[in-house]
Amino acid sequence: MEFRFSSEQELFRRTLREWAEKELAPRAAEIDAKEEGIPDDIITGLAELGVMGIGVPEEYGGSMVPGQQHILANLAVQELARADLSMSVPVYVLLCLGWGSLVSLHGSPELKALILPKLATGEYFLGICTTEAGGGSDVANIKTTGRVQDGKLILNGEKVYISGVRETTEQRDGGHLTLFRTDPEAGHRGMTFAYVPARAEGVSPLLFEDIGRGGLSTGGFRYKDVAIPQSYVLGELNKGFYLNMEGFNVARTLVAAACLGAAEKALEMSRDYVKQRVLFGRPLAKFEGISFEIAQDEADLAQLRMWLRYTAWMVDQFYAEPGSFSARDLSHAVSICKLEAPHLAHRIVMHSMMYHGAFSYTRESPLGMAYRGLMSYIVGAEGGTNIQKLIIAREFIGPEAVPYR
Ligand SMILES: Cc1cc2nc3c(=O)[nH]c(=O)nc-3n(C[C@H](O)[C@H](O)[C@H](O)COP(=O)(O)OP(=O)(O)OC[C@H]3O[C@@H](n4cnc5c(N)ncnc54)[C@H](O)[C@@H]3O)c2cc1C
Repeated sequence: MEFRFSSEQELFRRTLREWAEKELAPRAAEIDAKEEGIPDDIITGLAELGVMGIGVPEEYGGSMVPGQQHILANLAVQELARADLSMSVPVYVLLCLGWGSLVSLHGSPELKALILPKLATGEYFLGICTTEAGGGSDVANIKTTGRVQDGKLILNGEKVYISGVRETTEQRDGGHLTLFRTDPEAGHRGMTFAYVPARAEGVSPLLFEDIGRGGLSTGGFRYKDVAIPQSYVLGELNKGFYLNMEGFNVARTLVAAACLGAAEKALEMSRDYVKQRVLFGRPLAKFEGISFEIAQDEADLAQLRMWLRYTAWMVDQFYAEPGSFSARDLSHAVSICKLEAPHLAHRIVMHSMMYHGAFSYTRESPLGMAYRGLMSYIVGAEGGTNIQKLIIAREFIGPEAVPYR
């Protein structure tokens, strides 16, 4: 068992941290505040560092290190979140890496050739399109349909609360892995997961105004007789639900990595501030009401860090050595990360805001944007809090704990 990063992994992390502190951190507030989204030079810079290609095999222009890509993706997202507390850049990257790795694993040769090289250069954004207005948690109940006709799939329906709408329709290009019904009578066994270009004919985008994570848009898509080639299907027709869940396992570890990065930064800010802020004749750090709270946050964060590392390693093992872990082992470990990380990060940011006092309530401080950005992962993005509890209960207690059976 090895708990250290390899020297290559350490070098990658250090290089990215230096880049992010210099190029990203000073612009994070501007990225969060403006509608233009993440500037091109940030995405290009990340592509040049090899970050956008972590999930892309070399033959498609990527920098994938087989057997290590999930650890490296976790490290990258954690480092970016330290520099951009709004979560915009880390989430942009984690969506491309997480869902891009699913294309690398399950895409047809045509789909891989279409998407992967452009993901590695940052030209394309790739997201996930599952949620519908009827309830994002109840994935098996989606209504969007896909009908096979003349060798194509014809989609009709509507998706909402989707990340990356402006990025794929205006700012850059790309699309979303989209879940729809191809056998309406077969429940979750009749769903297909396929790439839908955001600019395909018959796709109409809509945009929402979010309270946080301002550099990455959220919106939706209406599909009216959208025709996509069958080669855009991931895996097989009617097996899409399982691939969607597989993708969530990867993406959710990356979500936890984003939360970990933001929490680390906020806790370091707390540590530094309470040593120098003098009140009642001594630094705030001398008051146990504060130092003990910071100690507790540090202890909880250390546990999250270790569990997340283990889970990221587990994801790599799952693919590198098939059979080493089951998909259910993975769901259990991943949902613990996705359950704990957003709440812990949010609590650490809130504590940091309290130590910083009124200053933290101004836009001069980056803590407010972390507070708003992290909430996205508590209310629902990549699966709400209670859905993680449902998965953990299902895996730990057993089928008796599944309410819909
Ligand atoms: C910023 C942001 C970005 C997003 N990006 C994407 C995206 O890119 N692609 C995408 O497909 N979706 C995206 N989503 C949507 C996200 O997946 C959904 O918010 C999530 O699945 C929850 O769905 P919902 O919001 O419809 O809430 P609902 O499903 O209506 O759930 C409401 C509440 O009920 C709880 N709940 C649900 N079922 C149970 C149960 N059985 N027992 C107890 N409690 C339960 C939930 O945890 C939640 O708190 C995004 C959301 C946000 C906020």
